[in-house]
Amino acid sequence: MDASLAKLKAVCFYCTRKVKYAGGFTRDHVFPKSLGGEDKGNMVDCCYECNQFKADQTLSQWLQVIETMLKYQLPYKNYTLTILGQVRRNIWRKLHSKKGGIK
Ligand SMILES: [Zn+2]
Repeated sequence: MDASLAKLKAVCFYCTRKVKYAGGFTRDHVFPKSLGGEDKGNMVDCCYECNQFKADQTLSQWLQVIETMLKYQLPYKNYTLTILGQVRRNIWRKLHSKKGGIK
């Protein structure tokens, strides 16, 4: 593995946690592939846990789930409430991106 590439991919798009090894990374279809999401302009690097957590939900659906967890202070697996807050912020930012946010 190219060291500079590993460094580039060191932060998860959703939770912003650092991933210690390149194999811990996955490529997520922001708009789910199962719902017809394409590859082009619809892929982000994220950690395996976020990919599993999001599964085939749209960003809006995932945001609702996370907001409910935060409201009732329910952590998910090894996500602290702080990390959930970061995920919420990054989803929100993506949804409201001026450059054609992905719903
Ligand atoms: Zn993540």
